Formats: sequence, structure tokens, C-alpha cells
Amino acid sequence: MSNPSLLILAGDGIGPEVMDEVKRIITWFGEKRDLGFDVTEDLVGGCAYDVHGVPLTDATMAHAQEVDAVLLGAVGGPQYDNLDFSVKPERGLLRLRKEMDLFANLRPAQCFDALADFSSLKRDIVAGLDIMIVRELTSGVYFGEPRGIHIENGMRVGINTQRYTEAEIARIARSAFELARKRSGKVCSMEKANVMESGILWRDVVTEVHQAEYPDIELSHMYADNGAMQLVRAPKQFDVILTDNLFGDILSDCAAMLTGSLGMLPSASLGQPMANGRPKAMYEPVHGSAPDIAGQGKANPIASILSFAMALRYSFDQGAEAARLEGAIAKVLEDGARTGDLMGPEGGTPLSTTQMGDAILAALDASL
Ligand code: NAD
Repeated sequence: MSNPSLLILAGDGIGPEVMDEVKRIITWFGEKRDLGFDVTEDLVGGCAYDVHGVPLTDATMAHAQEVDAVLLGAVGGPQYDNLDFSVKPERGLLRLRKEMDLFANLRPAQCFDALADFSSLKRDIVAGLDIMIVRELTSGVYFGEPRGIHIENGMRVGINTQRYTEAEIARIARSAFELARKRSGKVCSMEKANVMESGILWRDVVTEVHQAEYPDIELSHMYADNGAMQLVRAPKQFDVILTDNLFGDILSDCAAMLTGSLGMLPSASLGQPMANGRPKAMYEPVHGSAPDIAGQGKANPIASILSFAMALRYSFDQGAEAARLEGAIAKVLEDGARTGDLMGPEGGTPLSTTQMGDAILAALDASL
């Protein structure tokens, strides 16, 4: 059997720095756990524009469609801010998501005990938190037609349309239920069925899929505004939260901040299963290219390394190895390893990006 294939698109700014650490972790799993990957690398974002005049070439796009998973760093930077909209770095990212049809965005909000004091909430509310937001990513109000700014009766009118088909709702519901089966078996679906017809359909279809296919899962429904309140009041009541594109955008940012630093947040975007049964998949940190610290060895690589842990779990069915990697990260944090973004008011000397990578590799060695 050949190794599974990975395409690394490190991108701009701190992207290449944090992905260098991910590459060392990938090598470790090949050497120490007999879990080899065939890794190729290519350009996306501003660096692709510099070389090719576009943020993603057709050849890179075609390659992304063929591999078992894409690992992305980050794109963008001030030098690209004035480019034409069609060739901005973000267009490369959006093209990947669209053409791979990555409709399920998974964002965990996990609070490492050692970092519980970084949360804006009290320690006991967030310590041990481990929830997953499943957000529909390719439909809803960000894509619905009609849209635009029109003139009506001499006045400007801004229009966006919230639109979901039952097929779109059913497939994201299945993603959430499948995920819940690998976790604690609980899904809470959030919409605004009290004021939106699309919310009524959302609730109906999620309930139908649940009854027909996932009776073993515990399903509850909540209005999204209440969901936002509950997330900051008592987030540990949730396990998997299922929601649409707009509410998911907001709720996942809200949940993420429960856990502290942007440098700690991974994500996965999944599509339909390919011929080999693995879903189309792209894994990336939530943060951007951080031009303010790029090239200085200050970036925290943990968000990208945790994204690779998600790849191990969701693309390659290596839950135990993903847990090993997450455990190694928890251990170095408990031992006090901190990059600059994780420094508390007490100060100290922060680790560089590479030193954090070294510490995680040492903890992985110790886990054997
Ligand atoms: P950002 O996430 O890049 O940075 C926000 C702040 O968090 C900065 O102070 C940065 O130094 C810090 N930070 C982020 N990641 C960090 C890490 N791993 N370790 C330590 N500190 C970290 O967001 P921004 O400043 O709004 O955007 C910068 C650029 O990134 C823009 O061009 C933007 O368009 C782009 N961007 C890209 C993505 C992506 O590629 N997915 C996402 C968001 C923003």
C-alpha cells in the first residue's frame, strides 16, 4: 500500500514558519510510528501571485483535488492589499474551498488546562472544555441570490438572501451526527426557526435525518442567539454544535475565544468522500499570516500542528495518534513552554517557533 498523500500549501507571512514545524512532526510520525506520508509542497496566496500572477494556479488546484488532504498555512499581507479583487491572496483559499466543495467546517474549541487563565471567562467555566462547532460553509446567506446593492425609489438597498436546500442541510447534519458518534454522542443544532423560514426548514430536516439515520445520537435544538449566550454562560453543556454558515461564522469565533490565543486554534474543512472513502479535506489554523511578527521566529506553531492532529483523526482514522500529538502539546504547555502570544503578565523568555517545535517533538519521543 502506498502512503497517503499530503499537499502542503504554506502560503505567506508566518505560514512557512509554522508549516516547517508541522513538517518535522510529519517526519516524526513516519520515522517513529511507521505512519509515512507522501508530501508535496506548492504555492498559494501572495507568494503564488508573485511567481505566477495568480493566487492559485490550475495545476495546484488539480493537485489539491487528487491528494488525500491539503495542509494550509495562511495567506495575505499588506503588500497584496491593493491588488485587484480577482487576484487577492484570499481568492486562492476561496477557490480551494469552492472547487473541493468543502461544505463542512469543523472548529474545535478546546481549552488546555495550562492555558485556562488566558480565557476571558473564569477558569472553572472553561477548564477542560472540549466542544466542536460544525458550520455549513458553502451555502446560506454568503452565497444566496439575489444579492447586491440596488437603487429602489432613489434609495440604495443592500440585499443578501439566506437560502438552503434540504439536501444541503441533510449533508451537513450527517457530518455533525457522524462526528458526534466519534465523540460523546450529543448534537445541538442552532438556527432562528422563530423568525426565519430557512430556520424552520433547517430544524425539520435535521430532525428527519436524526430520526431516520441517527437515533442513537442525542439531538437538541436551540435558537442561535440563545446559543451565543449559553456559550459564554456554560459552554461545557455542549459537545457538537451544528449550525449554518452565518451563525457558524459568529458562534465559532465566540467559542474560539473561550480558549485564549489565536495561535492555538485549528480547523478542518471537509467535503464528500472520495473513491478511497476519505473525505476531501483541507486543514488550516484559524489565524492569518500575522505580518507583524512574520520572519522573526515568534509565531506559535501549535494551531497548525493541532490542524495536522485533526487530519490524523478525520482523514486517516488515526485517533490514537492524534491523541498522542494533542497529549504532547498539553504536556509541553503544562511544563511551562510558551511562545510570545502565550506569555502571561508574569513575563519570562518566550520560546521561538522552532523551540516550541523542539519541545513538542521531545514530548512525542517521551510518549513512546
Ligand atoms: P492574523 O490572524 O494574521 O493576526 C492577528 C494577531 O494575532 C496579530 O497580532 C498576530 O501577530 C497574532 N497571531 C496570529 N497568529 C499567531 C500565531 N500563530 N502566533 C502568534 N501570534 C499570532 O490576522 P490579521 O492581522 O487580521 O490579518 C493579517 C493577514 O492575514 C491579512 O492579510 C489577512 O487578510 C490574512 N488572513 C488570512 C487568513 C487565512 O489565511 N486563513 C485568515 C485571517 C487573516
